[in-house]
Amino acid sequence: MALARAWSVGLVGVDGHLVEVEADVSQGLPVLLLVGLPDAAVHEARDRIRAAIVNTGRDWPMRRITLALSPATLPKRGSAFDLALAAAVLAAGGQLPPTCLEGRVLLGELGLDGRLRPVRGILPAVVAAARAGIGEVVVPEANAAEAALVPEVRAYGVASLAEALDHLSGRSPRPAAMPAAADGCPAPGPDLSEVAGQSHARRALEIAAAGRHHLSLVGPPGSGKTMLAERLPGLLPPLSPDAALDVTAVHSVAGALPVSGGLLTRAPFQAPHHTASIAALVGGGSGLARPGALSLAHHGVLFLDEAPEFATGVLDALRQPLERGEIVLARSGGLTRYPSRVQLVLAANPCPCASPGGDRHCTCTAATRRRYLGRLSGPLLDRVDLHVPVYPVTRAVLALAEHAPEGSATVARRVAAARAAAGERLAGTGWTTNGDVPGHVLRSRWRLPRGRSVDLDTAMECGLLSARGYDRVLRVAWTIADLAGRAVPDRGDVGEALGLRCQQAVA
Ligand SMILES: [Zn+2]
Repeated sequence: MALARAWSVGLVGVDGHLVEVEADVSQGLPVLLLVGLPDAAVHEARDRIRAAIVNTGRDWPMRRITLALSPATLPKRGSAFDLALAAAVLAAGGQLPPTCLEGRVLLGELGLDGRLRPVRGILPAVVAAARAGIGEVVVPEANAAEAALVPEVRAYGVASLAEALDHLSGRSPRPAAMPAAADGCPAPGPDLSEVAGQSHARRALEIAAAGRHHLSLVGPPGSGKTMLAERLPGLLPPLSPDAALDVTAVHSVAGALPVSGGLLTRAPFQAPHHTASIAALVGGGSGLARPGALSLAHHGVLFLDEAPEFATGVLDALRQPLERGEIVLARSGGLTRYPSRVQLVLAANPCPCASPGGDRHCTCTAATRRRYLGRLSGPLLDRVDLHVPVYPVTRAVLALAEHAPEGSATVARRVAAARAAAGERLAGTGWTTNGDVPGHVLRSRWRLPRGRSVDLDTAMECGLLSARGYDRVLRVAWTIADLAGRAVPDRGDVGEALGLRCQQAVA
């Protein structure tokens, strides 16, 4: 036997591609050649697979060995090819029946002692195997539950090269892995019932959730901006099965899946610190381009606390991906794409001195304040439909509150109903929420009867609203109508939307 083939999967972003691993063992001086665009980690595989094979008690063929990974044009990164490479060498050397590699995908990094170590990105790799018609995957034991989330493929977890060989040759077949029973999401997030007072901000949060509107919260430290933002994911509907698979795949590639396993079925929440680098925020890094907080928040909420403190370049890097719903990272080996359909929440103090006492102790001039919040303006803030001032809750307000505040589940039910109404109206358009719909479409296809938009038209004629601001008010008015169960926004809905727009602290 001179030539053998095994199969594995290479990832570009969250897209998996079937990779054929060929091993050729021929006469000649003992040498190992690796061809097909492998990166440094794949090069190091040579030493790992040799040691693993020898330490598993198998023979390393003392001849000329050529290993080829194809397609050659696909960038191949990381250590997940180890198991396929080792199996191909053993099959080519006559130590494993080559037929047992057919119809199987092998994934996993080998330790020098032959142990099989878990790798990132198992879920998208197994999804790609399923799409290619592969019936079985052999993965590291620690990845088995994740691999089993794809029902079209039988997943087998093995702890070592020896176990993998036993399974492949049918000597001691392993039981197929079961998907993790637990929901991959940790305990439900914080509840809205913990937010007392703040009726204005709570209402804005509900509207933001219902229409998937980007939101900005401006208020002094301690006014509860973070508390409010953290409770937004709890108001959003659970992820659809497809969205859950997408979100889990991104977290898998990032190595950020919780150990409990299972699909991530709730909207994720990411709150990168303002000192975060561009790579940490939008993705990147050396070698394999990793997803950043932006993509980890896909189908969920990206919260930028103290947003004016983020470096300008970092904020600018968010613009395009927010618009497109995906981030494209240019690497030497080609382009890597990660999804980035997020709901943005910006929080800011009204001024750089961030005096907790509010205006009383603040010594910032009006110009300083304008400049500070001005850092957010421009294209990023242009995407934000709701600008909400947040005030510290006073004891008087708390004393006035007669009832316990509404909890997240109650609000989430209204949000779900509003989303269903919007979904019905937008069916067939490609948009699913009001936050997605371009202003010109609202103004033409869903033009309001003249009497209902009269206040809006007046505000615009008086110069209180820009053309873009006009469209934002319209979008929000539709969401308010959806929440109220009205087929078309009435004058009151438009008025409330206008109020949410004009109370803003940021121009
Ligand atoms: Zn100040």
